Amino acid sequence: MTLDLTGKTALVTGASRGIGRAVAEQLAGAGATVAVHHSGRNSEAAAALAERLGGHEIAADLANPREAKRLWDEALDVLGTVDVVVANAGVFVEADPEVPLDDWLAAWDQTLSVNLTSLAVLSREAVNHWAARHAESDRQPGEIVGRLVTVSSRAAFRGDDPAFLAYAASKGGVVALTKSIARGWGRRGVAAFGVAPGFTATDMASGALAEDADGLRAQTSLGAIAEPEEVAPTVVFLASGLADHATGTTVDVNGASYVR
Ligand code: NAD
Repeated sequence: MTLDLTGKTALVTGASRGIGRAVAEQLAGAGATVAVHHSGRNSEAAAALAERLGGHEIAADLANPREAKRLWDEALDVLGTVDVVVANAGVFVEADPEVPLDDWLAAWDQTLSVNLTSLAVLSREAVNHWAARHAESDRQPGEIVGRLVTVSSRAAFRGDDPAFLAYAASKGGVVALTKSIARGWGRRGVAAFGVAPGFTATDMASGALAEDADGLRAQTSLGAIAEPEEVAPTVVFLASGLADHATGTTVDVNGASYVR
């Protein structure tokens, strides 16, 4: 069995670093042409990656959900068609419930906009596109033309610390959205999956790892924190077409630190 995405196109959000970069590299390694999305704050790294992978680079600040629509339009433009969307971009914004309400709400707004609403806009554009492609070509029910892989988090299932209520809530929303798309669009050519990482050695987790790497390692049964390259293969597998009957599922990649 080989994971072969030759001739496929993929848009990966938040792909300039961390899990998104590993996913972009591995999708390209499996033969896909990849659009490397980034926030605009990491343009050089994104451009270098896109060039190395023979793909394209697109900037869009997903703190503004309307930018997710522009991102989709641009991805369609540069790729010609989009077969796979990996909705990976996310923020982990701290807001202790004791801070002033305005500050707490600002953290909620940012978190929900990037992690959930922009992901929803992108998913909406993708499923509308895939449903139209499915209808146009008179395909059979169950014949999949587009695959969405969302990146949520262990926090969606386990919950998170008090300062990260918004993060946990946003990721729970991502899981529910993924299930709903899988249920609603399966006959219209769409499969939707999720991946829920636990702590992974990226910029996002650097603060927590600096504070207590041993404690975080000890939470896992493997005694190790995952590298982004160890999370990405699950995404590529789900995107490959070999797992379409698993549509609707979210796969845990957390070293058994939370088993559900
Ligand atoms: P990271 O911080 O390295 O990457 C996050 C990516 O999201 C970056 O590419 C960043 O540019 C992008 N992004 C953030 N804000 C954005 C904005 N406003 N507009 C556009 N892009 C934006 O962290 P990561 O660990 O690679 O995170 C990838 C995904 O994995 C996230 O959804 C995160 O919630 C999830 N996750 C990570 C961990 C972990 O421990 N690292 C655990 C569980 C889930």
